[in-house]
Amino acid sequence: MKNGIPASKGYAIGEVLLQIQDQVIISDELVTDIEAEKNKFVAAVKLSKNQLEKIKVDTEQSIGVDEAAIFEAHIMLLEDPELMTSILSEIEVNRKNAIKATTLVTDKFITIFDAMEDEYLRERATDLKDVAGRLMGNLAGNRNEILIHKDNTVVVAHDLTPSDTAQLDRSKVVAFLTDVGGKTSHTAIMARIMGIPAVVGMRDITTVLKNGDKVIVDGITGSVIINPNETVLSEYYKKRKDYNEEIEGLKKLRSTETTTKSGKRIYVAGNIGRPEDIDQVMENGGDGVGLFRTEFLYMDRKEAPSEQEQYESYRYVLEHSEGKKVVIRTLDIGGDKQLPYLNLPVEMNPFLGYRAIRFCLDQKDIFKVQLRALLRASVHGELSVMFPMISGLEEFLSAKSLVRECELELEAEGISYSDHIEWGIMVEIPSAAICADLLARHVDFFSIGTNDLIQYTLAVDRMSEKVSYIYDPMHPAVLSLIKMTIDAAHKYGKWVGMCGEMAGDETAIPILVEYGLDEFSMNASSILPAKRLIINCE
Ligand code: PEP
Ligand code: MG
Repeated sequence: MKNGIPASKGYAIGEVLLQIQDQVIISDELVTDIEAEKNKFVAAVKLSKNQLEKIKVDTEQSIGVDEAAIFEAHIMLLEDPELMTSILSEIEVNRKNAIKATTLVTDKFITIFDAMEDEYLRERATDLKDVAGRLMGNLAGNRNEILIHKDNTVVVAHDLTPSDTAQLDRSKVVAFLTDVGGKTSHTAIMARIMGIPAVVGMRDITTVLKNGDKVIVDGITGSVIINPNETVLSEYYKKRKDYNEEIEGLKKLRSTETTTKSGKRIYVAGNIGRPEDIDQVMENGGDGVGLFRTEFLYMDRKEAPSEQEQYESYRYVLEHSEGKKVVIRTLDIGGDKQLPYLNLPVEMNPFLGYRAIRFCLDQKDIFKVQLRALLRASVHGELSVMFPMISGLEEFLSAKSLVRECELELEAEGISYSDHIEWGIMVEIPSAAICADLLARHVDFFSIGTNDLIQYTLAVDRMSEKVSYIYDPMHPAVLSLIKMTIDAAHKYGKWVGMCGEMAGDETAIPILVEYGLDEFSMNASSILPAKRLIINCE
């Protein structure tokens, strides 16, 4: 048995097909017939473009337009005048052979892209590596495709590029295994889209397995059993059957509206941390987004994201949510989430200190950049905005008056924003739950943040292992605050959601439905099981 990182769930039983790339030999040989070498290069570019066009069309038909867009980006690289003329001039001026010229130039660009701050530009390095590999393979006369003849094939490779995976005969591949990669590597993403298991980061799986080996791939635990005996095989046939049946049953709920037996419509939304996460939420049949933790946009960088950058992130989520509600939470920094460039003070009790709305109301310039970006993005969908760590009415009113300032600024600049944005608060400090009756008159909605509400109600640090036994979502005090919050909101005709982990907890869901919670927001993978459970609640 070998272990790796489980990157896509499910079980597969199949035969190994090793995908070892034909090596391209890069020689230093100089060319004598420069024109012939240039023609050879131009022909290889043309062939690569034709191949990519075909992959793009196939991917559009078999997977989707969004997934095919990457190949358009690859084609554009082959049309990039700077890149192409640099390679041709290496051939012409320095008499390099076409393969050598291609490596020299693409390596230089890859190093530049790799060093970029911007994640989008860094990803261009991966695209360029893929395109350069194809181009050099074509120059060397290699076959740039994986041919699969047998059903139930487990593709085993050092790594799989987007174009490798897109070309696979999807009816025959049942799993992927790779030496490298993590949960977000391309192989992992592709496997999840294809709905087949994958185990990545296996280090040396390409040297351990031989073509034709029989393997069981366990995408849940990340283990691979090589040439199993009959007993193990029949155990996994059963596991695979049970798992597939469960998934099929859940998939049917994707487009089902979640309504309880007594006829109440409940919204099951997703929690996201990066704009792209919206895609997983929608694939899992989510009713939009119940919590976008925007602080992730501010992390792993040297300065706060600009208004334009934030606007683009919010717009992306709104445009990908199929017209469903998107609840974006303003910056919740401090506590366990620090940003080095903000020089936040070191505090004795950071969870009780300078964080979230307290920080934003103090650092108005930083806050207003975010509010302006949110207002600008609001025209692209159904936006709701909520403020974190509200302890009382004054903070909400102060935040709203800053919103008004931003609205007036935008109006003066002739920039439009939506007139039906909902403005709400996170109820995650006990005082907010206790004063819910007052707050409910002013807000458009509440979202209960149980992760913090439990910590503050029971005085139990959510990060501390030692006292975690006290951290109990079902504590009567916590349940009572939740009930008070829901009742107060309903009294004033407002809706209430929950975006803490408790919302996806299958033991808590029936109680929360009974209390009258209107919206549950959770990780994308919990959405379908939650829908199934709610449909069976009274
Ligand atoms: C919460 O406190 O429940 C919550 C959703 O916010 P976070 O986990 O980001 O503090
Ligand atoms: Mg919180």
